Amino acid sequence: MRIILLGPAGSGKGTQGELIERHYGFPRISTGDLLRLEVQKGTELGRMVEGIMKSGQLVADELVLDVVKARLQAPDCRSGYVLDGYPRTLNQALLLEQLDPSRPETVLEIQISEESVLKRLTGRRVCSQCGAVYNINNNEPGIDLKCQVCSGNLSLRPDDRPEVIRERFRIYRETIGPLLAHYSRKQVLFPVDGDRTVEEVFEAIKLIMDSRISGQRGELKRP
Ligand SMILES: [Zn+2]
Repeated sequence: MRIILLGPAGSGKGTQGELIERHYGFPRISTGDLLRLEVQKGTELGRMVEGIMKSGQLVADELVLDVVKARLQAPDCRSGYVLDGYPRTLNQALLLEQLDPSRPETVLEIQISEESVLKRLTGRRVCSQCGAVYNINNNEPGIDLKCQVCSGNLSLRPDDRPEVIRERFRIYRETIGPLLAHYSRKQVLFPVDGDRTVEEVFEAIKLIMDSRISGQRGELKRP
């Protein structure tokens, strides 16, 4: 099973991806994390990606595909995987289908308003030393803004500034239409209301996933 999580940054799809990984055992693959890793390692690809990501723009299809392709070849992806942040465009979806053609798909579209995304992301603080993530909307970590794990300084990530969030949301809205239409035609698209608690959203996702997985078993049993 290939599970594809769609939704703007701040929709909670990263968290839901982790919950799916824990519950169903499919590894979560975040293209954002993979690309950030390249930036950290200072590879040639990383240097190209860095400037593009800072401005909230999308990284070119070919660059992302190389990174995804390498990751999907790892043995833990054999029975399935959860993609977070990929594909983002119809072209990427088609490239992915060429790469791994016969795998059944479930596409979860987490729907959320721009205002909710802004509220969530402008409250996010990241530790400059260990990378732990906090949210001041949840009254974490108190007024001193120090990391509870390592006492490092917490700060707003450059790509969590309001103007960058709005630009990213606008790009998401503009590019997601053809992708949704594509998956809707394939009858693998399942919308999920993301403006609820993490637990409530995951309950909704489990209902969809369980029926998809049992449906798949049913198909296999048929002669
Ligand atoms: Zn820390």
